[in-house]
Amino acid sequence: MRVAVVGGGVAGMTAALRLAESGYQVDLFEAAPALGGRTKSFYDEEVDEWVDNGPHAMVGAYHSTLKLLEDIDATQYVSWQSSLTLSLWDKSRGFFDLKAKPWLPVNLALIWAVYRLPGHDLSSVKAMLRLAMTMANRDEEQTVQQWMDEIKAPKRLVEDMLEVLCLGVMNEPMRTAKAKTFALVLALSFSSHRHARMGWFNKPLSQALVAPLTDKLRDLNVRIKLGSSIRSLDDLHHDSIVLALPTFARNRLLGIHEDVATHAITNIHLWFEDKITLPNIMQGMLGTYGQWLFDVSAMMNQESGLQHLCAIISADESDKTREELIALVLSEIEAMLNIKLSQPKKIRFIREKRATVLTRKYRQIVLPDHVFDIGEAPQVGGLPATIELAVQSGEKSVQMVHLSHEKNT
Ligand SMILES: Cc1cc2nc3c(=O)[nH]c(=O)nc-3n(C[C@H](O)[C@H](O)[C@H](O)COP(=O)(O)OP(=O)(O)OC[C@H]3O[C@@H](n4cnc5c(N)ncnc54)[C@H](O)[C@@H]3O)c2cc1C
Repeated sequence: MRVAVVGGGVAGMTAALRLAESGYQVDLFEAAPALGGRTKSFYDEEVDEWVDNGPHAMVGAYHSTLKLLEDIDATQYVSWQSSLTLSLWDKSRGFFDLKAKPWLPVNLALIWAVYRLPGHDLSSVKAMLRLAMTMANRDEEQTVQQWMDEIKAPKRLVEDMLEVLCLGVMNEPMRTAKAKTFALVLALSFSSHRHARMGWFNKPLSQALVAPLTDKLRDLNVRIKLGSSIRSLDDLHHDSIVLALPTFARNRLLGIHEDVATHAITNIHLWFEDKITLPNIMQGMLGTYGQWLFDVSAMMNQESGLQHLCAIISADESDKTREELIALVLSEIEAMLNIKLSQPKKIRFIREKRATVLTRKYRQIVLPDHVFDIGEAPQVGGLPATIELAVQSGEKSVQMVHLSHEKNT
């Protein structure tokens, strides 16, 4: 039985892999000249480095991604914290960490960690307890902000932890992000120390994820068709078709005219000749425009060459120009490190306008019986748009194709 998978991002590659493993003959169609979708890297000759369009972080609760990495022999390309540490900085308090002590049960460890943050007291602890107690019954319409108001979360707790997490995992500010999805992320992540810790790729995504996946696909005789933009379902004559496209790309393919809410992520890659030491690989910045500063050289264990930092602006819906944002981020790094930076040797400004599809109530569209939609359309109360959602969606396709195959035989 022949299956066409349209879209060669993480969702499509996972779908192709799992379908081929189940014995289907798979053709994978990707419009771009390379696989990877949003988890892509490019080679920059000037700095002689493979660069991710944006560094990707994960949490230990990403079970399906971890299983996939195991299956493609790529677990060594992810480095993990031993237990959750959020390294933060703000102008008035300097550097401080929210660090979950691994010898305490995770819930207690988090509450203790919050209590130990500078400027926090029992009011933060009480709000954390109210947060834990109200996670289960969030209304679909409620925003994270409304939830925080309901539990009377102190401003400091929101700024130091909850807003950072909400932007980081949902790419959406609390005033519009859905509480039910945020509650799910918190519940999954804070169920154990293993789940709560953060991880990062220690090689560019092209080597850490895309190449091992491609190798496995080739081993399983998946036919990979690059530069193949599918314009109509009529172009495909397969027994089943799996659409692994973000909702806006799926709509374009199917001729559906409907707006899809998305948010941008801006990544400002900076290369310096001087060694600039960041206290942490992933440095959170509070009260600033850039929310995270990644020490990419340290992430990738690069000891020589230029010092590569990447500033990340999640949910970047500002109308600031490229030049304004670069100047702002550079001045914020200077303030944080209390140094005068030399002019970066190279700057690369990457703004993914549709970095993630926002969590909303998406309606099911009616498709022909042999066509299955597994594209990024994160539902309220489910996972937000992440690698984990893409992997899980890819895996779901096997069951969908299998059931329809059984029905027709
Ligand atoms: C800058 C940035 C940072 C991110 N950071 C994180 C992070 O830290 N952690 C995390 O978990 N997630 C992160 N994400 C989100 C994550 O990358 C995505 O959720 C995930 O990669 C989506 O995979 P996908 O396969 O669903 O979609 P995509 O990667 O978008 O793949 C869809 C593919 O379909 C192709 N396509 C489109 N139309 C057609 C067509 N008509 N015919 C054929 N092919 C077509 C596209 O070229 C693309 O390759 C980030 C995203 C960005 C952009």
